[in-house]
Amino acid sequence: MQNNPNTTLVTQTAPIATATHGGRAKCLQRLVRLDLPVPTTVALSFEAVHKIAQGELPDIEAVLKQFPDDALLCVRPSSEDPDWGGPGAVLNIGMNDSSHATLCRDLGSDAATALYMRFVQYYAVHVARLDPDMFDNVTGNGPEGLKETLRAYEDETEESFPGNRATQLGAVLRSMARAWDGTTARLLRQAKGAPAEAGLGLVVQQMAFGVGIKKSGAGVLQLVDSNTGLPQITGRYLRQSQGRDALHAEAEALYLTKDPRGPSLEEEEPVLFKQLQDHAALMRVKLREEMQVEFTVDDGVLHILDGVRVARSPRAAVRIAVQLAKDKIIPQQEAVMRVEPSMLNELLHRQVDKDAARDVIGHGIAASPGAATGRIVFTAAEAQASASRNEDCVLVRRETSPEDIRGMHAAKAVLTERGGITSHAAVIGRGIGLPCVVGVSDIRFQTNDKQLMLKDGRIIKQGDVITIDGTSGDVLLGAPAMQEAALDDAFQNLMDWADAERDIGIRANADTPADAQTARNFNAQGIGLCRTEHMFFDINRLTVMREMIFAETGEDRRAVLERLLPMQRDDFTQLFRIMEGQPVCIRLFDPPLHEFLPTNRSGQRELAEALDLPLSDVTRRIEAMMEYNPMLGLRGVRLGVTVPEIYEMQARAIFEATLEASRDGDPVVPEIMIPLVSAKREVELVKTNIDSVAAAVHNERGESFDYRLGVMVETPRAALRAGDIAQHCAFLSFGTNDLTQMTYGLSRDDAGRFMSDYVRQEVFPEDPFHTLDLDGVGELLELGATRGRKTQPDVTLSICGEHGGNPESIAFCRARGFDYVSCSPFRVPGARLAAAQLAIAHKTL
Ligand code: PEP
Ligand code: MG
Repeated sequence: MQNNPNTTLVTQTAPIATATHGGRAKCLQRLVRLDLPVPTTVALSFEAVHKIAQGELPDIEAVLKQFPDDALLCVRPSSEDPDWGGPGAVLNIGMNDSSHATLCRDLGSDAATALYMRFVQYYAVHVARLDPDMFDNVTGNGPEGLKETLRAYEDETEESFPGNRATQLGAVLRSMARAWDGTTARLLRQAKGAPAEAGLGLVVQQMAFGVGIKKSGAGVLQLVDSNTGLPQITGRYLRQSQGRDALHAEAEALYLTKDPRGPSLEEEEPVLFKQLQDHAALMRVKLREEMQVEFTVDDGVLHILDGVRVARSPRAAVRIAVQLAKDKIIPQQEAVMRVEPSMLNELLHRQVDKDAARDVIGHGIAASPGAATGRIVFTAAEAQASASRNEDCVLVRRETSPEDIRGMHAAKAVLTERGGITSHAAVIGRGIGLPCVVGVSDIRFQTNDKQLMLKDGRIIKQGDVITIDGTSGDVLLGAPAMQEAALDDAFQNLMDWADAERDIGIRANADTPADAQTARNFNAQGIGLCRTEHMFFDINRLTVMREMIFAETGEDRRAVLERLLPMQRDDFTQLFRIMEGQPVCIRLFDPPLHEFLPTNRSGQRELAEALDLPLSDVTRRIEAMMEYNPMLGLRGVRLGVTVPEIYEMQARAIFEATLEASRDGDPVVPEIMIPLVSAKREVELVKTNIDSVAAAVHNERGESFDYRLGVMVETPRAALRAGDIAQHCAFLSFGTNDLTQMTYGLSRDDAGRFMSDYVRQEVFPEDPFHTLDLDGVGELLELGATRGRKTQPDVTLSICGEHGGNPESIAFCRARGFDYVSCSPFRVPGARLAAAQLAIAHKTL
């Protein structure tokens, strides 16, 4: 049998591997090597199970020869990764009249009969796939019940129940192999990342009984708490039970360690408990992992049936990996590799407690992780009013616009009917760590009536309490229990170790001092994108901004901008100070100007009053500024070229802030980024203006300073012509949001409406606003980088779109020698970890 690669007795030296026999089989072999009391086990390879599913059974007699003639057996799944699941275990194979008779003698007839009945019923439903209703008429539990059970089986199948152990085992193997091939199982495991053709192994093990006259029972034990990862012996033991019954029978189960709530194994069976604890500690060290031990006590003798990786929350995953490294069980590099970067999201934000009841009333795109509860408000102004009353609120909008920024800052979470992963609400939400769900199509947003209509007809009104779960995309009614964010010492350790390995820079996209502080707290290496337009939506500035827009001449415009200058200077000085000499890349004004104008009649009337103009002048002017395609209209560098005063004011504010912040801190070298460029000449014109502002500030102040000018590559043409454009640039930063929008010709604000259909029908493998399209947009990045470097070999390269925080984008950029990626502050830790993992994988290749 040892030499048969497909049905292998698990011994210390048998040829068993995770890739051929699955994780459970391999783990059992490791336990055997540790001399732990593991019952005899035979492992069936993926190949063997695949053949079984096709109808070709292995030599069952050869398998059975490994076990005593009358031994009962169990079969368990052994997939390559335990998270991929598998069919449920089948226990007590070999039960028949004769083993029943033996058990009646050993265990007493009640226990033996109950086991036999349970087996026949389980076999009928899960192996022979018969209808569970067939046992509806079975009434008793004793010998009568058993007779009825066997009769029901016979009536249904017109055959007597198969008593032969080989027949039962063959049928169990066949049913488990086929279940793995079924569509549901396939979809379930694919959702967990398993490849379509993932294999299943099976292990056939001698039953350690757990039921007997003497001390018997079964349970599970682990050495850490699954939620926190802190040392804590957890589990249960149930006398006279099998498998994981202890976990389902809270009332009668024993605690493992001494516990005021009830009796414990430690007190009742101190010797056994000690043995068990020692075995678990040995497994932790030798298997280099926190393991849950599945054990059975059979007539006073301890058996270890299995060891599975302890299930763990993200917080526990970090602590377990770090502690294993601190205990020198695994190297630090391995600890870094063991934590999935996306898990960190859950640590950085409050989450809905996993055990809390969820009244889900809608579902949308999980646009910004974390969860928050509050009363519904429908306008930004109401959100601000709520905040001033210290009342938590959730801002509900059809979609948000820059005018909502202050309301978003005041709210605890945001919910929008429209939008996708790069829509305004999503970008801002991620930037400021505000839980956000967008694109919710199963709720009707009746915002004028200040209410939401649910699918089931229920109406949720302004003031009602809801919870936004931006991690799952769920909208919940009420206030479920929450779990706090966990930036503990283990997290800090892991991050330090990750930074020691990383070889690509990570910056943050940050627009406000609060964002910048978050970026610093998360150890970002500077700001990769400061979107300055958000600074103009402050209520004090908005009116000035509007005056500027309405100015007739350049002179008038300059005069109004003079009033904005000190405010902008202040903004930048604060950012520079917070970043303490780290680079800050400031993007010049980007959106179309009319985004700053009021959209409704009352706003227009207020504006007319403020500007002392007739209402008709205001409305005419607003109408004249309207564009059919504003995102492709007069915005970004096009404003810089046609209305140069705005960029001049911003450049002056940046330079004056540079001098101010450098005076009392590290010298600042600001980076100025021009958005939406598509031609070299645009850069030349803007550069000439900015250089002359720099010269003017230098002359006025008599102090010198450096600055770096660069371009945001976010139009396909800028990527194609990066060779020309880079001549004038110290850096090129790829804005993959707009670059994706323009490469696909797909509106980033509207794509959410049909994206799930597109992904479901496999038109796109993923939402390209979420996962960088490496083939198309990636090719433009590659072209842009190569061409840019050709004319300007030391040009700094980066990406700053929302993709910047995704491991696959980081891998792409790192492989092409980009200098850094920039992402929302809350994604910085995940990006640092992902970058470290890439570097480690590269070194250990
Ligand atoms: C981009 O277009 O990728 C970008 C980062 O800028 P914004 O999202 O502000 O358009
Ligand atoms: Mg852009």
